[in-house]
Amino acid sequence: MMIKGFKIKIHPNKEQKILMNKTFGCARFAYNWTLNKQLEAFKNGEKFIQEKELRKEFTKLKKDMKTKGEAWLYEIPNNATKQAIKDCFRAYENFFNSKAKKPKFKSKKHSKLSFYNDTYKIKVFNNKVQLEVIGLINLAEENRIPSGKIYNPRISFDGLNYWLSVNVQVDDNQINKNSDKEKTEPIGIDLGIKTLMTCSNEMNFKKINTEKQIKKLKRLQKRASRHYLNMKNNKTTEKSKNLLKLEKSILKQYQRITNIRLNNIHQITTNIIKLNPSHIVIEDLVISNMIKNKHLSYKIEDCSFYEIRRQLEYKCEWNNINLIIADKWFASSKICSNCGNKKEILSLSERTYKCDYCNCIIDRDFNASINLKNLAI
Ligand SMILES: [Zn+2]
Repeated sequence: MMIKGFKIKIHPNKEQKILMNKTFGCARFAYNWTLNKQLEAFKNGEKFIQEKELRKEFTKLKKDMKTKGEAWLYEIPNNATKQAIKDCFRAYENFFNSKAKKPKFKSKKHSKLSFYNDTYKIKVFNNKVQLEVIGLINLAEENRIPSGKIYNPRISFDGLNYWLSVNVQVDDNQINKNSDKEKTEPIGIDLGIKTLMTCSNEMNFKKINTEKQIKKLKRLQKRASRHYLNMKNNKTTEKSKNLLKLEKSILKQYQRITNIRLNNIHQITTNIIKLNPSHIVIEDLVISNMIKNKHLSYKIEDCSFYEIRRQLEYKCEWNNINLIIADKWFASSKICSNCGNKKEILSLSERTYKCDYCNCIIDRDFNASINLKNLAI
């Protein structure tokens, strides 16, 4: 048994969005109310308030508000406020026992918008999720979340999209679909900028082209920076409607690019895993050293390498494949995969490996991938 975390985009409809936004507000209200209660008690020299007591009082508050015509705390899933009280109680308890910093009040503008859904009331289907009160919501990706016991489901909003995070207890048998089948040869993978992955079994995966989208992103950022400059010149901190709109477009465009890449990497890693190799070998990239480049397109590239490794890590684990991360000093490019001779100098511009010893001529990245594969043999 193991617990796996998942975060997946969801597509609520208009009414659901309204309801979810209300729930974020109510959860924040309950959290701040709890914190205030504890701080007041502390100030008055009273005892630390227990969770049960807090929940009782909150129910009373809800009823009192309703009789005054304010029933908004009844419109949202009950568990969202219940858990917010619990969360704040824990945070305050940890502070009280000197295990954590003093919890802060959640602000409308700067705090993460999130709420909890009851574990027993949430239901995850192939392409939908059923939430308490809010109803059935479409998931952005099908079949991402495996079936199993769900822990700590949370809904959040990042300013643009709504997300579902869950921890799922997965059965080993359920995930190691290939584990009982015979394994195939190990695969070494060389990661690169142009050819994203060069594999020792002669499979190649090019980097997906997002030039157009990146150009658009840069254009948007340039426009925004002009707005920022104007604000500075006019000594104002208030963002215009246009700037806020622009910032949203930037976030959207950035996510669009990330999604294209993410989906591409998912496809590639799944293709490799399906071959059911005994081992997969990749390099331990010191990424920030590899690409010392301030340009945005390279920053996104950076994330691709992390993402490839992250996906391979969990997909290998699920499919009983050994993932070997080669030592970062392993000279996968400098060694001749044919005779084992090591070159002392190999410049980055040499795309073809020519061995001085055995006269072997081979593509540089392919040579590296074979050397990586050989680590598993
Ligand atoms: Zn050689």
